Amino acid sequence: MGIVVQKYGGSSLADAASIKRVAQRIVAAKKAGNDVVVVVSAMGDTTDELLALAHQVSPLPQGRELDMLLTAGERISEALLAMAIANLGHDARSFTGSQAGVITDSAHGKAKIIDVTPGRIEEALSMGHIAIVAGFQGVSQDSKDITTLGRGGSDTTAVALASALHADVCEIYSDVDGIFTADPRIVPNARRIPRLSYEETLEMAASGAKILHVRCVEYARRNQMPIHVRSSFSQQQGTWVVDSTSTEPEGEPMEQAIISGVAHDRSEAKITVVGVPDKVGEAAHIFEVLAEAQINIDMVVQNVSSAATALTDISFTLPRTDGQTAMTALAKLKDEVGYEQIQYDDRIGKISLIGAGMRSQPGITAKFFKAIADTGVNIEMISTSEIRISVIVNGDGVDDAVTSAHAAFGLGSDEVEAVVYGGTGR
Ligand code: ASP
Ligand code: MG
Repeated sequence: MGIVVQKYGGSSLADAASIKRVAQRIVAAKKAGNDVVVVVSAMGDTTDELLALAHQVSPLPQGRELDMLLTAGERISEALLAMAIANLGHDARSFTGSQAGVITDSAHGKAKIIDVTPGRIEEALSMGHIAIVAGFQGVSQDSKDITTLGRGGSDTTAVALASALHADVCEIYSDVDGIFTADPRIVPNARRIPRLSYEETLEMAASGAKILHVRCVEYARRNQMPIHVRSSFSQQQGTWVVDSTSTEPEGEPMEQAIISGVAHDRSEAKITVVGVPDKVGEAAHIFEVLAEAQINIDMVVQNVSSAATALTDISFTLPRTDGQTAMTALAKLKDEVGYEQIQYDDRIGKISLIGAGMRSQPGITAKFFKAIADTGVNIEMISTSEIRISVIVNGDGVDDAVTSAHAAFGLGSDEVEAVVYGGTGR
């Protein structure tokens, strides 16, 4: 008998009726002979509502109290789910992240899991109970305070628990049938990807595909934990995220597609520092200041300086939510660095082409750029990894560019496969 960890997102637990439906699914997995551990998110938009409430009482809520508040969302859904399961005649026990042994560092709002000691979960399973765990939370090893793992962190809780319990699989349920070759809301004939390697999934998640939390995929890769991403609204197979050498779930090795999908991201902004003196150490200086402000930089481009002026422009992208902080930090540098001005643009979008097969296939970059050019969209920045090509374009051009690239690589299906059941993709 194996252990199955199932994680249900907020859209699968939006109201009482959904919770009862999910309870039935869980009981079915139990009846099929599995030990079942369930990780839950907060119901619907509860986390957003709690956050908004916090900001109504204080412009700058303390991290400790914010975490205490937000973790309540998951406690509501887990208790209700346990009740619904009991009503179906099965024993379920709910546990907070702390009770489940999720030990973290003390970084409120973005805590990292440092250990998982799921003694109470193992005990519940040995008594034949279904264990339900509040996602996205843990307890700090040092301060013993309650922490959260960052938005969308329940995926990471699920994979961490699955790894600690040596589960057979970690099933992540949302309201879409898996990972698609593009966002079905932009490309209606996007295809479900049956199997995807950890590496490609990581690139997809980091490129804006909202289906899985990046850290959860990193965790799964490190522990070789298979993830099955699927919908709680249907019985269909979803996407298996596995090692590229794995033969799960069909017993055959992965057939390597050259291109797996096109992802897009509208959450970034672009800053250009204009007229930076072309001297040793200037770039380091600028990015040190941004690092001190805890800002994660994505792409960077530095132009060749003009011989006449010996000045150059440096552009980079960053999360839009950090835009204000970055501009403030850079403004303080103006005299020290002696740049001419800084420009901020948040009407941009990023489009990424992902596929492990591009490593050994010439011409992919040219074909991708041509597909974008055909829609009349101008490319502003480019960055690549071994298995990804990303471009920054004007935000208005994103939908057309995604559609064109998806078609150019023949990724579409003849039928419409994708249904977004609850409307959120979570
Ligand atoms: N409820 C939390 C959030 O909305 C965690 C999660 O859903 O994974 O971010
Ligand atoms: Mg949520």
